[in-house]
Amino acid sequence: MRYKDKVTIVTGGSKGIGAGCVRVFVEEGGATVVFCSRNEQEGKALEADANRKGPGRAVFMRADVSRVDDIRRLVDETAARFGRIDCLINNAGWHPPHQPIDAFSIEDFRSLLDLNLVSYFAACKFALPHLRKVKGNIINMSSLVASMGQAGATTYVATKGAITAFTRALAVDEAAYEVRVNAVSPGNIYTPLWQEAIDAAPDPGQCRADGEAAQLLGRMGTIEEAGRLCLFLAADATFTTGVDHILSGGAELAYGRKTRRS
Ligand code: NAP
Repeated sequence: MRYKDKVTIVTGGSKGIGAGCVRVFVEEGGATVVFCSRNEQEGKALEADANRKGPGRAVFMRADVSRVDDIRRLVDETAARFGRIDCLINNAGWHPPHQPIDAFSIEDFRSLLDLNLVSYFAACKFALPHLRKVKGNIINMSSLVASMGQAGATTYVATKGAITAFTRALAVDEAAYEVRVNAVSPGNIYTPLWQEAIDAAPDPGQCRADGEAAQLLGRMGTIEEAGRLCLFLAADATFTTGVDHILSGGAELAYGRKTRRS
């Protein structure tokens, strides 16, 4: 019950890492969690399940974060209904299929920037007047690849690098209001997004095995492990701001074979 009586917004909370945050904040934090996604059925199903378990409560609101008006409504309705916003977790995002820069159009890049980056900026902008009142905090879901790079992912990596840099700049400004702003950079966390990549691979079994083997710990992380790091940042890490928290099972450590040349 480390986040009892606190109100948290999670974007993209119906499945994957966002759902891990919803569950952990409700079950271990005792918080009120308002979360959004585009698929209403999945959102309502998680809402019902999380509320059955408690002790906190989950509230689903349908919103598409690529629409600024939807983000504004998510924030305004949360504040109107619950009277406060203590934590904003910007998580909704997408990783397009891997391909070289030649195959991405300028429009592909612009629309991914809107979804992955501008949505975070907008949600922060709308939530900050409420967060400042209660000295709350923001957690921006970035990615390990923002600092490592990734093959066939120029557009995605660019959005994540910008999220990490934006997080630091916002932390500098918002310290004046005692609002903390942190990033979480997951490596491989097993989610529906990862399963999509496995299903699309020429050899799905090998793809899953390679995904597991990329970490020193020999497995992918779980959505609950991601949720617990976020709850720690929101509830306990009260002297931590502007930090990029890597959640990777050691994927970035030590040398590995990185070229096919002998
Ligand atoms: P996921 O399994 O695909 O889940 C994404 C969630 O976001 C779903 O609830 C989805 O629901 C929602 N969403 C997607 N587009 C949306 C939109 N336009 N408006 C509102 N909600 C939207 O993805 P994930 O793997 O959990 O990834 C979550 C975040 O972590 C992303 O920012 C991703 O870049 C980051 N990340 C993931 C990994 C990993 O290994 N999984 C690693 C590094 C970073 P709907 O589709 O119904 O809208």
